Amino acid sequence: MLELVNAYKTYSNGSDDKHIALDHVNLKLATGDFMLVMGSNGSGKSTLLNTIAGNLTLDEGSISIVGREVQHENDAVRAKYIARVFQNPQQGTVSEFSILENFRLAAKRTQPKLLQFGIDKAFEEKVKEKVSLLGIGLENNLNKRVGLLSGGQRQALTVLMASMDEAQLALFDEPTAALDPRSAEVVMQLIQRLFADRGITSLLITHRLKDAQLFGNRLIFMHEGKIARSYDEEQKRILKPEDIFDLA
Ligand code: ADP
Ligand code: MG
Repeated sequence: MLELVNAYKTYSNGSDDKHIALDHVNLKLATGDFMLVMGSNGSGKSTLLNTIAGNLTLDEGSISIVGREVQHENDAVRAKYIARVFQNPQQGTVSEFSILENFRLAAKRTQPKLLQFGIDKAFEEKVKEKVSLLGIGLENNLNKRVGLLSGGQRQALTVLMASMDEAQLALFDEPTAALDPRSAEVVMQLIQRLFADRGITSLLITHRLKDAQLFGNRLIFMHEGKIARSYDEEQKRILKPEDIFDLA
């Protein structure tokens, strides 16, 4: 459902100096694949996700989603079928707005027409149902300002918001990196339930080998802009930390 062929992306560091962030990457994901992405800082993980999302354009190579070349579509167009969650929960939510207002704002970005047709009550019910999945009673307090929530709760909300649009593809860039271990677990379980269990093809960047072993059916390690290692579900389960720290 997702295919990158010879994806090549450089950043210019002024003058003639170029940094190769993606070095002819080939990648193929089937519908429902949940691929974990690991690798050192600067290995090209975020660049990979940003080119798939359309924030960045490849220098060379191609990306197709459900058999369709998507190079000509900008990130706003792709947002209609690609859900995204970033590391910082602040990036996905507005502190001054209530929980419900944050959901509205997210929906307006991807489905501007939806809220013009007076189905606000239905929307609120849908939000309530989603938020109740957290199991902490927050659905009875949708007017609470998001700024009053913990980082873990905010990140859980961004995952819920990302799941509202029935995306075909979901991209998670270190969604648990800023969270304490307990909140990280809640967020990973939520991603499993709302995306992986529902067959939505997903890519998730993480630094925790444990998460990469527990979740998903594929794992890649990036190194200097290349996919240095690739494991299937069985292989990743038996990986030892020392197997990955001697990447070359
Ligand atoms: P990762 O997410 O694996 O840490 P990135 O994809 O963010 O890596 O970055 C890959 C490489 O490209 C890094 O060396 C980084 O410094 C460089 N890079 C990323 N964004 C830019 C940019 N906007 N301009 C110049 N270099 C960049
Ligand atoms: Mg990154």
